[in-house]
Amino acid sequence: MAKIAILERKCTGCGLCASNCPFGAIDMKDGRPDLNAACKVCGICVKNCPEKAILKLETKVDSVDKSKWNDILVFAEVSGGRLHPVCLELVGKARELAKNVNYKVKTVLVGSGVSAFAEELKHYGVSEIAVYDDPALSYFRADAYAACVEDYIKYAHPSVVLVGATSLGRSLAPRLSTRFHTGLTADCTKLELRENTDLVQIRPAFGGNIMAQIITTNTRPQFATVRYKVMTPPERAEEASGDILIRKIPKGVLESRVSCVSVEPIPPKKSISDAEILVVGGRGLQKESDLDMIRELARLLGGDWATTRPLVEKGWNTNDRQIGLSGRTVRPRLIITCGVSGAIQFTACMNGSDHIVAINTDKNAPIFDVAHVAIVGDLYEIVPALIRQLKEAQA
Ligand SMILES: Cc1cc2nc3c(=O)[nH]c(=O)nc-3n(C[C@H](O)[C@H](O)[C@H](O)COP(=O)(O)OP(=O)(O)OC[C@H]3O[C@@H](n4cnc5c(N)ncnc54)[C@H](O)[C@@H]3O)c2cc1C
Repeated sequence: MAKIAILERKCTGCGLCASNCPFGAIDMKDGRPDLNAACKVCGICVKNCPEKAILKLETKVDSVDKSKWNDILVFAEVSGGRLHPVCLELVGKARELAKNVNYKVKTVLVGSGVSAFAEELKHYGVSEIAVYDDPALSYFRADAYAACVEDYIKYAHPSVVLVGATSLGRSLAPRLSTRFHTGLTADCTKLELRENTDLVQIRPAFGGNIMAQIITTNTRPQFATVRYKVMTPPERAEEASGDILIRKIPKGVLESRVSCVSVEPIPPKKSISDAEILVVGGRGLQKESDLDMIRELARLLGGDWATTRPLVEKGWNTNDRQIGLSGRTVRPRLIITCGVSGAIQFTACMNGSDHIVAINTDKNAPIFDVAHVAIVGDLYEIVPALIRQLKEAQA
């Protein structure tokens, strides 16, 4: 842990620290700097102080014995009666990481009637599948689920715990990391494992302008959440392997402070993350009704449509059809972007697509850096021409 300290006897109140702070975290009060909650302890004020009146204090933290924490654990989420596909994507990534350091990959299932999924997981190369199966766990109660996973972590001592960044996972992972007084990085887009078993958790930061590499150096386990469609799932093996470990439900779980009054299932909705073909409209579209041609092209290709964030902000579309850091991650076989510039906040969540076709009038648009096929031209000519050709071909 680090913190900033200001030496009053040295400070002349010049205000350079406040004017240079990129986070606006220093207020000048009665001619003296005063740190507010926006401080990120970046240390820029330390460098800028001509009087050396600002110090960055590092607190030495005792490191755990890392050799006692081994293997990678994947939380296998079951929701709506199915194994969430993000779980297999995480197993695929975990297997890749595990090879570097000779780790095993384990999974934990929590819920009611989840034992059936343990059999299925045996086809994905995991060495152990821990199961907490009880009718009391039939719906997600954060405290009860956290207690079960905590119980298994205390038993298995995994070095890394991967959780899908779903609504359930986003509620569960921080509760667990807090219980173990350790770090959690949300929404990782890339993961690497160093030889010393430190997990390099890579994710966009500062509005997507940098890719931050976050490391949990002193504590274990290392928690990371990853969104659906970011990693690649492994092939299902014909042969089953791995052991199923039925765990006793920890004491007190049934006395959860959360009780379920009623469950109102929301009818399953098609998500753009599941689409195989996507046509995307960006700010190159001049009016809302021009989205009709985007939808028409998508329909003719047997795919779905989506937009960039500015169109959601204009009220032309809803957030569930927005691609990007503050929307969804997609990985279709084919994506056609129309009038999209290719900001990092957008491309970071679609650049894993198999085939990217971009239409833009600006030959220098950054979208062309990730596109496999670049069409420099006016979408108002190209999209109708594509629609016409597809209609002719289908006729
Ligand atoms: C924290 C944060 C999170 C964000 N999250 C997201 C997110 O989740 N998703 C997202 O999309 N954005 C997000 N953004 C915004 C992002 O930075 C960009 O502003 C946005 O992606 C730009 O959208 P655009 O490409 O549609 O528009 P623009 O950048 O305005 O690009 C429009 C493009 O259309 C082209 N064009 C214009 N007319 C035509 C034509 N007739 N034919 C062909 N091309 C044409 C132009 O050359 C231009 O390149 C986020 C930003 C921040 C700071």
